[in-house]
Amino acid sequence: MTSPNAELTAWIAEVRKQFPALDVQVNGKALVYLDSAASAQTPMPVIEAMDDYYRSKRSNIHRGVHFLSQEASEAYEAVRPQAASFLGASDPDEIVFVRGTTEGLNLLAYGLGERALQPGDEVVVSEMEHHANFVPWQRACHLTGATLRVIGMDDRGVLDLERAAEVIGPRTKVVALSHVSNALGTVNPVAEVARLAHEHGAVVVVDAAQSVPHMPVDVTELGCDALVFSGHKLFGPTGIGVLWARRELLEAMPPYQVGGGMIQEVTAEKTTWADLPMKFEAGTPAIAEVIGLGAAMKFVLDLGWENIQAAEHAVFAYAKEQLDALPFVKAIGSAPSQIGVYSFEIEGVPAYDLGTMLDQRGVAVRTGHHCAQPTMRRFGVDATTRASFAFYNTFEEVDALVAGLKRVHRLFG
Ligand code: PLP
Repeated sequence: MTSPNAELTAWIAEVRKQFPALDVQVNGKALVYLDSAASAQTPMPVIEAMDDYYRSKRSNIHRGVHFLSQEASEAYEAVRPQAASFLGASDPDEIVFVRGTTEGLNLLAYGLGERALQPGDEVVVSEMEHHANFVPWQRACHLTGATLRVIGMDDRGVLDLERAAEVIGPRTKVVALSHVSNALGTVNPVAEVARLAHEHGAVVVVDAAQSVPHMPVDVTELGCDALVFSGHKLFGPTGIGVLWARRELLEAMPPYQVGGGMIQEVTAEKTTWADLPMKFEAGTPAIAEVIGLGAAMKFVLDLGWENIQAAEHAVFAYAKEQLDALPFVKAIGSAPSQIGVYSFEIEGVPAYDLGTMLDQRGVAVRTGHHCAQPTMRRFGVDATTRASFAFYNTFEEVDALVAGLKRVHRLFG
């Protein structure tokens, strides 16, 4: 039986002080924020870094010789090597700033899919992908005559590796897989799938939106060729994300958007592209957000993965125990590797009503299909209620969720 641990409780209490939104009152109750998989909360150093840009560095970047522009450019560009090192990549030019995971995956599905696939080629995804790592590949296949193949999972939400070995073959050009499922919390064996894919010369794309907030992610250890994540799930701003890809891949791909900031030379006849990474950063980027993302990565690393994981794993294990013990709660997804996400349903209680009633008690959870309809279909449900956790969640918040569920069940029962 997991029980609240005094040392971890004190660490979490200290960390929470950095997150002003966690002090918000909801319906006269203390907020219990269990929706970090949708967007995590933002700590003061991130808010201050963005505030500092607007107060003292506000200017466009790259194209200005004046003081403010240089200050802003320096602050923006300093985040590129930081992001590379955060992902265990050695070349900062392999980092492209994008709007988020969705834009990064669309960029890849354009360059590696729409503009590269041919009839007979295959793209492999899993049944537990977020739509952001499913629909762009599906569309690329429809447009090119290639085939989308889907690897299934078992009743716990564990990826079917045997099936993966059958499906991935000489026709496979791209394997696109989430590191952690946003609907189930399953951690996928990316390195194993990458080995299979590479045996057949396929490119491996990883959606790391749900893994970067919970664990160190190293592109070399994963053995992937491209990886994408969003800032707002990593305690950073909205509207910013990171795409990392191997240099050869980025060099071979056409730009996704064209315009200012990404050219070498423009004449009436033709345009040549700037070198990496500018080739993929057309237009004025999200400058304050990149700076905020830098502060978020630093915040996480300063807290330390060991501390983060100790706190988070203890609270999540406690949550699982408490929730699994409620006879009226049916968990959707119970992979041994599960992390950060507990999806469930209560028979006879629509997820939307459940979410609304919990909100009345200040408990914020997410309800719906979680942009993962193939996953919902696999489990025979339209929607689930999802409680998702970050390192700032407490044992008491788990108790508040459990108390809320008992009350809802009594009312509906
Ligand atoms: N992939 C996964 C696994 C996600 O959880 C999400 C967001 O929920 C996305 C992709 C899309 O991220 P964004 O909306 O930041 O582009």
